[in-house]
Amino acid sequence: MNIVLLGAPGAGKGTQAAFLVEEFDLPHISTGDMLRAAVKAGTELGKKAKSFMDAGELVPDDVIIGLVIERLGQPDTNVGFILDGFPRTTAQAVALDAELSKLERPLDAALLIDVDPEVIVGRLTSRRMCKECGCIGSVADASCPKCGGEMYQRDDDNETTVRNRLDVYAKSTSPLIDYYRGCELLVSIDGDRDPKVVYADVKTALNA
Ligand code: ADP
Ligand code: ZN
Repeated sequence: MNIVLLGAPGAGKGTQAAFLVEEFDLPHISTGDMLRAAVKAGTELGKKAKSFMDAGELVPDDVIIGLVIERLGQPDTNVGFILDGFPRTTAQAVALDAELSKLERPLDAALLIDVDPEVIVGRLTSRRMCKECGCIGSVADASCPKCGGEMYQRDDDNETTVRNRLDVYAKSTSPLIDYYRGCELLVSIDGDRDPKVVYADVKTALNA
């Protein structure tokens, strides 16, 4: 199963990816998680990416494309993969197509988790993440529901940055919906429901 997850920041891509990973044992390739790990580790990539991320802007295409191509070269992706947060621009989608046709591993689906932007502002500003395992929770969780770790608010989950991320999504990423519709790979799911209900539809849509 070779899948791309599409949707605005906070649409629930990471949550759906986690369900898919658990059930189908596929590698979850989240460019946001990879970049946050690089920032935390203080690598050159992390230093380069941090200011873009804090502002809610996209990290430059050449940086992120190289990172994903390298990741797709690792053998665990032979069984399939779930790309989460990539591609985010048409240039990234074109580069991904080229790489996957080189690897002879075409996409099976581009899954759009569709949620209204105003719903998202509320979701993201009340979102909290576990420092230990990266699990997603809310302001109501005193500690991580999964591992008991400390919860924190991502630097980019404040209202100003969230609104900018949504603008960037509308401008740079939402054109990919038409791009994948054109390749007959687009599958759209209403993401404004309980995550488990959304997941049931995801599985139906993927014939999984
Ligand atoms: P969200 O989807 O909630 O905005 P992510 O964790 O996917 O968050 O990404 C966080 C930030 O990392 C983005 O705002 C952006 O700065 C950077 N980023 C992640 N993926 C990409 C990408 N494919 N291209 C450019 N920048 C990216
Ligand atoms: Zn945790």
